[in-house]
Amino acid sequence: MAQIGQVLVDVPTMQTNDPYSYAIPAELEHQVEVGMRVTVPFGRGKRVVSGVVVGLSDVTNFDGQLKSIQSVLDLAPVLNTELQQLADWLADTTYAFRITCIQTMLPNLLKAQTERFIQPTTPLTATEMATYFPDGAPREFDAAKLDDQTVSGLLKLQRAGKVEVVYQVKDRAAAKTTTGITPALPVSKLQEIQVTVAKKAPKQADLLAYLQTMTPDTPVAQSQIVHRAGVSAAVINTAADKGWLTKQQIEVYRDPFHQPVKPTQPLKLNAEQQVAVDQITTAIDQQKVQNFLVEGVTGSGKTEVYLQSIAVALNQGRTALMLVPEIALTPQMVNRVKARFGQRVAVLHSGLSKGEQYDEWRRIDSGEATVVVGARSAVFAPVKNLGIIIMDEEHESSYKQDENPRYHARDVALWRGQYNQCPVVLGSATPSLETRARAAKGLYTRLVLAKRVNDRPLPPVHIVDMREEVKQRSEGDFSQPLLTAIQTRLDRHEQIVLLLNRRGFSSFVMCRDCGFVLKCPNCDISLTLHMDTHTMKCHYCGHEEAIPHVCPNCHSRKIRYYGTGTQKVEQALQREFPSANILRMDVDSTRRKGAHERILQKFGKHEADILLGTQMIAKGLDFPNVTLVGVLNADTALGLPDFRASERTFQLLTQVSGRAGRASKPGEVFIQTFNPDHYAIQLAQQQDYERFFVTEMHMRHQGSYPPYYFAVQLTASHEEEAVAAKAMFQIVAALKKGLSPDAIILGPTPKAIARVKRKYYYQVVIKYKQEPQLKPVLEQIRQAAQVPARHGLSVTIDSEPMNFM
Ligand code: ADP
Ligand code: ZN
Ligand code: ZN
Repeated sequence: MAQIGQVLVDVPTMQTNDPYSYAIPAELEHQVEVGMRVTVPFGRGKRVVSGVVVGLSDVTNFDGQLKSIQSVLDLAPVLNTELQQLADWLADTTYAFRITCIQTMLPNLLKAQTERFIQPTTPLTATEMATYFPDGAPREFDAAKLDDQTVSGLLKLQRAGKVEVVYQVKDRAAAKTTTGITPALPVSKLQEIQVTVAKKAPKQADLLAYLQTMTPDTPVAQSQIVHRAGVSAAVINTAADKGWLTKQQIEVYRDPFHQPVKPTQPLKLNAEQQVAVDQITTAIDQQKVQNFLVEGVTGSGKTEVYLQSIAVALNQGRTALMLVPEIALTPQMVNRVKARFGQRVAVLHSGLSKGEQYDEWRRIDSGEATVVVGARSAVFAPVKNLGIIIMDEEHESSYKQDENPRYHARDVALWRGQYNQCPVVLGSATPSLETRARAAKGLYTRLVLAKRVNDRPLPPVHIVDMREEVKQRSEGDFSQPLLTAIQTRLDRHEQIVLLLNRRGFSSFVMCRDCGFVLKCPNCDISLTLHMDTHTMKCHYCGHEEAIPHVCPNCHSRKIRYYGTGTQKVEQALQREFPSANILRMDVDSTRRKGAHERILQKFGKHEADILLGTQMIAKGLDFPNVTLVGVLNADTALGLPDFRASERTFQLLTQVSGRAGRASKPGEVFIQTFNPDHYAIQLAQQQDYERFFVTEMHMRHQGSYPPYYFAVQLTASHEEEAVAAKAMFQIVAALKKGLSPDAIILGPTPKAIARVKRKYYYQVVIKYKQEPQLKPVLEQIRQAAQVPARHGLSVTIDSEPMNFM
């Protein structure tokens, strides 16, 4: 038996990836396992901290007196072997601490102050109940308060799968329970009694008949039996008194998606879909690590490919993980998965209450749920025996976490695919450049769905040159062609989606006569307006210049900062179309839980004619009656000081265009822009992803940007600007000394919004191709940053950042 536990402690200001050794006291000897949470004394004094056991051993090279583990917080490991290894890999690749990675993987409930209860999972014998649950189940579980015999007895039951520990947040409602019923007699006996009571008590006979259909040891809620067997509670009570059945409290899971979903059957695949499913099936069958890029235009039936591939994995007794960008924005997707796989589906996302999250986590951990759907952090779901991992809309930037650990769910998915020997399927109509480039290199098998289902055409896209509109009309948000198109749809009782692009809102200046955006002479990246200093700054190289009052290109005075608000647009729209019903979807109208879903449901039921919204409406919506999509301002994202500005714009325009004409009625799209000749807008009009890919790769090559180069961003922040700046200069000096001359170091520069939450931010970006010393150099910087961290300076390292601002 191991005598020493290696524990990663959770002490924010003294982080280390090296575990501390703690003695395992005799009474905990049979309890401690790798992957469990424990409490341990730490430092001098009586401080007790929590930690995670990451190793067990008999020896230690620490020759002083070892402190002892104080208590064990779990009965079974909360991190299985796969997730333990994943945490190590994550820490290594994201420059985060191991304990931070582990905490990211666990459901919130396990991080909060919790009370532990132990409860039977199957009916126990009368003796077992009397010994372990004298006051009934569940009972509070605190190893320190129980005698050793009870603890080891409970542990045995737990290993036999008869009891489990559940957690409840202190002062929160308990896990929901209800009365459950199990037959107390074998079927033959029940049948015998049924015959004898059939005449005198037909209701009792009905109940006895029902009991015979039940699976032994699987309780069914009393309310269900009342309903299904058509008997009253009184009949059930009599049966309990006669010893035909037993009652017990069973736990019911909180169902985060309450609406019942109508089951669906697999659709007959078209030829392109069939090829995709066949190839993925082969990879699942052969347990091959073959990864796929499903590149399918909007409405080409990618979801059906996902669903049928998941079915293949399930049929082989394996499980499936499906990632979506943001659950709140894609309720239709969740419903489609639930409709196909029903109770087997668990849904994980941050919008759930802690209790709901934990319920779902447990259903996954226990193997009850075999299909997991979730947003970014669901990639850590404790599903075992994965047969397929799917990542829908793989280009979405929400897959990257912008706090420690700064991981990209795609990388984690690929790691887990490797571990589980199963394929990873990345899907998108507009794959990220990185992914498409890797497919070009043969790292992913490319599966193309070039046509919409049933040969429905992609909607024609019209570009409206707003420079002309502004000349002819006053500066409104709506062009004449768009207004006319809206009126036509309203007359026909068809629906309209309008996108107001809020990205990069009012952070750059643009000429309203010629569309000119001020760029950095060194970096070819838009300059950002800084109202604090009244200057235009480049966030890559630090170049700075005055805010222009006339356009350097056409000398117009209509150069100003760009932006408009959703509410203002809504009012203007209502003035133009007084009788139209308008729904607005933006951060304000969706603040409340479930608001997204309610708005989309209303729109789906045609309770509104126009859905006006920000980026949120661009994704995954499938409304057959939408025949017009209008983009009010295609340019805002183009002006962002980010080398991905064109890519993001192309993606957004293509995705939102794809919302039109998905069913029998043909669709049409209008894109209003001040840059009608920009390649991102032109190619979005043609919905030509492949040409966009080639063009953009060329731009990236010229600018030495990803995917040709790797990138790391370092940020220093402090309440005093001088401290943040000085730290960054020191870091740059360390980088220059440690890295090869081939590494391109941009900065230090102040960040776009230099002062956030009373802190100043400075950043540096490293671009490199091969830099063997990078890891050790960054590791040193991270370690060195721990001491000043106690004085308010924080340094972050972001490998392959998604935001360069
Ligand atoms: P994507 O995810 O590629 O945008 P969807 O999966 O939403 O496309 O499919 C678009 C529409 O086509 C959906 O309404 C879907 O039910 C339907 N569909 C998909 N595959 C088929 C098929 N093989 N036969 C008939 N309809 C299909
Ligand atoms: Zn620059
Ligand atoms: Zn101009």
